Amino acid sequence: FSGRDWETSQDRGERRTEQSTERATPGCWPSRQIYISVFHLIHLQTACFMSRLLSSLQDMDREYVGFATLPNQVHRKSVKKGFAFTLMVAGESGLGKSTLVNSLYLTDLYNNRKVLNAEERIVQTVFITKHTVGIEEKGVRLRLSIVDTPGFGDAVNNTESWKEIEDYIDQQFEQYFRDESGLNRKNIQDNRVHCCLYFISPFGHGLRPLDVECMRALHDKVNIVPVLAKADSLTPTEVRRKKMKIREEMEKFGINIYQFPDCDFDEDEEFKQQEQLLKDSIPFAVIGSNIQVESKGRKFRGRLYPWGVVEVEDPAHSDFLLLRNMLVKTHMQDLKDVTRETHYENYRAQCIQNMTRMVVQERKRRLVLHTHTHTPTHTHRIDVHRTTQTHTH
Ligand code: GDP
Repeated sequence: FSGRDWETSQDRGERRTEQSTERATPGCWPSRQIYISVFHLIHLQTACFMSRLLSSLQDMDREYVGFATLPNQVHRKSVKKGFAFTLMVAGESGLGKSTLVNSLYLTDLYNNRKVLNAEERIVQTVFITKHTVGIEEKGVRLRLSIVDTPGFGDAVNNTESWKEIEDYIDQQFEQYFRDESGLNRKNIQDNRVHCCLYFISPFGHGLRPLDVECMRALHDKVNIVPVLAKADSLTPTEVRRKKMKIREEMEKFGINIYQFPDCDFDEDEEFKQQEQLLKDSIPFAVIGSNIQVESKGRKFRGRLYPWGVVEVEDPAHSDFLLLRNMLVKTHMQDLKDVTRETHYENYRAQCIQNMTRMVVQERKRRLVLHTHTHTPTHTHRIDVHRTTQTHTH
């Protein structure tokens, strides 16, 4: 019984009332009464139905404890607290690391950067710099830290030049471990490195020995995401071939890079396709730019060449958008989870194991010391005993 029908019948009722008033014949009254009774009956039924619906809703409310709002509570609390993410960039200088980071977060993170000259770089050892910025988007605050590794692979002798990077990652774990085991655990700042973008040169034939050694030294400590730098210097066929070669080499040398989590079977098709695309795109072929170019009436981040324009965010030109979506939109939390649950947990287990071993060794040492300090008295007593015995005999 829709509202429209109801109005029509009401209109009709009014019209009938007018007609009956016009005619004013006693024979019309019973039909009018029947009509009004039916109308009231319908009203009554609707009211009954509504009250039953209301009481069943109240019953449901009584059965509802309220934990369904938990995600909202977590969401509100997390937004209030803000998020922290630490990204490390590694790879030889000049591969476009700082340019890419600026393009990724649309900020100038390297405004007071000093680029070393060749002479300075010959003797340079890797030193680590950290830039932190607070970015806010739609009320969500992100404390983003970028750890740069200038000088990596720059010196004439690069033996163990990844050691500085390895030590830095360990130091952050150590700091977190201390904070976590300390008295004030409330406001621990998480400076652990959640992801390392490893830049691979587009000019070589796949991985260089330094890349292999460095990635192998770091893969158990940090989530490595390999990127093929300056992809605009390669043709699409070259990009495809290089990617395949790099993937093969990584497998051959047993390099464990960050693994995208498997999709749940009930995930929608679009999501599954997106995840597969991410897996197939490794290493991400990227292009960076710090400037905006204008072409065909549009302004965008890109690189202008005499033969054309490269648009950083165009999926046909590079995997930049895929990488940014992965880092920011879809996998930031997973990168943090893997850091906490796998890499940090390994470090923590190792630490506890070492500490236990040290305690056991210390106890053994004390026991030996104790035995040594008490041995002379014991020997003396035996000697006396022996002497006594000899005397008796
Ligand atoms: P970093 O030393 O690895 O941090 O490299 P920079 O970001 O300072 O970039 C070194 C040079 O490479 C600069 O002249 C950049 O303009 C240029 N560059 C950065 N990204 C790209 C890119 O994607 N393609 C090309 N062709 N050049 C780039």
